[in-house]
Amino acid sequence: MEFEIIKTTSSRLGVTDLVNLGFGEVFSDHMFNMDYKDGAWRSPRIVPFGPVEILPSMCCLHYGQMVFEGLKAFRTGSGLLQIFRPDKYHGRFNRSCRRLCIPETEYRLFLSSLQGLIDLDQEWVPKRKGYSLYIRPFIFASDSYLGVKVSKSYRYMVITSPVGSYYQEGANPVSLVTSREYIRAAKGGLGTAKTPANYAASLLPAQEAIQKGFSQILWLDAAERRYVEEVGTMNMFFYMEGRLVTPSLEGTILEGVTRDSVIRIARDWGITVEERKVAIDEVLASSRQGKLQEIFGTGTAAVISPVGRIQHDDTSITIHEGKPGPLAQKLYDEITGIQYGEREDRFRWCVPVS
Ligand SMILES: *Cc1c(COP(=O)(O)O)cnc(C)c1O
Repeated sequence: MEFEIIKTTSSRLGVTDLVNLGFGEVFSDHMFNMDYKDGAWRSPRIVPFGPVEILPSMCCLHYGQMVFEGLKAFRTGSGLLQIFRPDKYHGRFNRSCRRLCIPETEYRLFLSSLQGLIDLDQEWVPKRKGYSLYIRPFIFASDSYLGVKVSKSYRYMVITSPVGSYYQEGANPVSLVTSREYIRAAKGGLGTAKTPANYAASLLPAQEAIQKGFSQILWLDAAERRYVEEVGTMNMFFYMEGRLVTPSLEGTILEGVTRDSVIRIARDWGITVEERKVAIDEVLASSRQGKLQEIFGTGTAAVISPVGRIQHDDTSITIHEGKPGPLAQKLYDEITGIQYGEREDRFRWCVPVS
């Protein structure tokens, strides 16, 4: 894949602190652009990271016809750069596009946009263990009009951000609270798409959860408020009586790539994994009966995020004494081991940058 490259004349690399990194606050020198016009993706190019000129009448700003992805590249001990499961993220990207009437991209083009960009900005991939380069591909509708209809033109972009370890001070288990008032997604809605509307809708409930002293909302299903769905940008796992249980994909929760990685590794280890409906009452009962071993969330950013406490109505439970459990730790070590090239990539998940 050939594309035009316009290199920056003023790299920010020398003046950027690549040690004290938050999440998604620092951006590397370049970005990838491509435009959809007259029925095809055109003029793929890498340009210096910077402002994008748009018209105030651009339809995406008004109606949110847009999708995004979030994946990572890692530097192995031997200095090789590799991307974790790009094919899987791309499949979800295209499914999100379909739901939002956005033209899909070919995998070949998607992968080479990431490879080209990361290769050029390779010095931006942090060298420390636990650190990585977060990759954010996104597509937005770029027609200029105020009618609610499908746009004819689009912009595809990729920006990258060096990120630190989520656990600089060790994994700090999160506390979750359910809501009777708010929902994340209903069947037939946008729940399975990585599209901004879902996150905009979650901001107010999340803010209220934080005011009550919790980290995030544990979403229950929209129809009955009975079954556990997911959290923020994480899928949920419950380790009960030696079985790992996770909510099945029934059209309302996002199909996490980390979720899939955890399921495949756990099954490979001989752990029984059940994908099914999980009632919040089942989780509370299992805690009461002393059968609840661990709860954790999974997502690209934190990989595995242990849950220390859950509040539902008037009941509050503490999980594994509020500390990270051994299974969460073992899964975290295995996945990050594969990502950093320290453990055998037996599922062939890592794709080299060049
Ligand atoms: C991105 C995301 C996840 C996690 O997916 P990964 O592919 O594991 O990063 C889970 N839920 C929601 C709502 C998300 O946006």
